[in-house]
Amino acid sequence: EVRVRFAPSPTGALHIGGVRTALYNYLFAKHHNGKFLLRIEDTDQTRFVEGAEQYIIDSLKWLGLTPDEGVGFGGELGPYKQSERKEIYKGYIEELLANGKAYYAFDTAEELDEARAKAEENKETFIYNWSTRGALKNSLSLSEEETKALLDAETPYVVRFKIDDTRTVLLDDLIRGKISIDASTLDDKVLFKSDGMPTYHMANIVDDHLMEITHVIRGEEWLPSMALHELLYDAFGWEAPRFAHLPLILKPEGKGKLSKRDGDKHGFPVFPMEWKTEEGVAKGYKEEGYFPDAVINMLALLGWSSGTDKEIYTMDELIQEFSLEKVSKSGARFSPDKATWFNNQYLQQKSAEELLPAFEEVLAVNGVEANSTLNIQVIELLKERADFVKDIYTQGEFFYIAPSSYDEKAAKKAFKEDSTEILTKFIEVLNGVEFDAETLHQAMADFVTAQEIGFGKIGMPLRLSLVGALQGPDVPVIMAMLGKDETIARINKIIE
Ligand code: GLU
Repeated sequence: EVRVRFAPSPTGALHIGGVRTALYNYLFAKHHNGKFLLRIEDTDQTRFVEGAEQYIIDSLKWLGLTPDEGVGFGGELGPYKQSERKEIYKGYIEELLANGKAYYAFDTAEELDEARAKAEENKETFIYNWSTRGALKNSLSLSEEETKALLDAETPYVVRFKIDDTRTVLLDDLIRGKISIDASTLDDKVLFKSDGMPTYHMANIVDDHLMEITHVIRGEEWLPSMALHELLYDAFGWEAPRFAHLPLILKPEGKGKLSKRDGDKHGFPVFPMEWKTEEGVAKGYKEEGYFPDAVINMLALLGWSSGTDKEIYTMDELIQEFSLEKVSKSGARFSPDKATWFNNQYLQQKSAEELLPAFEEVLAVNGVEANSTLNIQVIELLKERADFVKDIYTQGEFFYIAPSSYDEKAAKKAFKEDSTEILTKFIEVLNGVEFDAETLHQAMADFVTAQEIGFGKIGMPLRLSLVGALQGPDVPVIMAMLGKDETIARINKIIE
């Protein structure tokens, strides 16, 4: 059975790069009828951010990427939060120490700084491994008694992995292909600290093993750790999962990794949902009015392609078609315009009834209450020109609120000396007709013929009185939707 995990650290809001990692894991799991897990990697307590864990859970739910197991979702191989698994890691670190695959290191921060400075003097980069171990303070360079004395005295220590420098590690990434790494270039990574907490590397390997993970699908930034992870699996005598490292999501300009600041700077969201920080509130896709299925579709194509021109996919279609072989090796450029385009596509697909709840939310935010018959009509009339539900309101606000002023330029163009007289006569016509668009259309046509005036003579001031500007749908349609009383009241107001 395929088992994959999304393993974020609760260090802040989930960025869309993280969401895409979750999505690809989800699609891969569902494609293979497997399981998708959520594991919270909170071993680095200095970077812990209050509320981040719940945010991750809520974001996944909003996007429809519901885990089968994990923090907040139950499961048999938990706990799924690393801070609740300290005892487990301890046992495994002892095993590595006992087998001579790991060792204690007592070097202080100052001593390590010194070693770094010395290396720099010789134009070298310091690396804690086979080449330097002997000159540093650890259980490989000290005698057994010295080590024991330091441990008995409760000297702070870390446990480091003893990399076997004679090895060449052969990696086989499902996206990157084969890579060979000379282990002598790797450093003896810290696995455990005397505060009782494992590091990311240690906890990650132990958990992937115990949670029976078959495929590790994660961001490219973890590719450099892959050799270390393979060696760790080896040290435990465990079979390693398969790895797949996803390409970066690039800034719209194409160079560099997309960051939160890009969103701030250019005004597009990079978080799924609103995120409150000390600096303020960053609006997410949800608050900006994106549909979750549009976000999913957009992210699916940021790094994966089926090889055809097809761009609109339902979640089921994505599950059907997704494969790691078709994930690209090179970075995928994020495009805010394309994100908007996807939302537009999903908006056009949805019926007015489906859009109604979101539209009525926008109305409520704007303090407007109206009956849903009108609301449905407004949506049907205006959705074609909208990318977001809120655009429908922006374009159709006049249906709910009578213009309190008239666009100056428009007024100059539309409202002439004879407009008052023409409108006054037209009110008489309106008083005598049924208020449906077709009848009103005919009434206007008859009116211009009878008055021997051009259509603009009535059409423009009339539109101005109803909309406040020279925009919007067909005037007869607007009148029919506003109804007789409101239409006449608005005309009266402009000729006052
Ligand atoms: N906790 C790591 C992160 O936040 C997970 C990396 C992995 O998937 O192995 O990215």
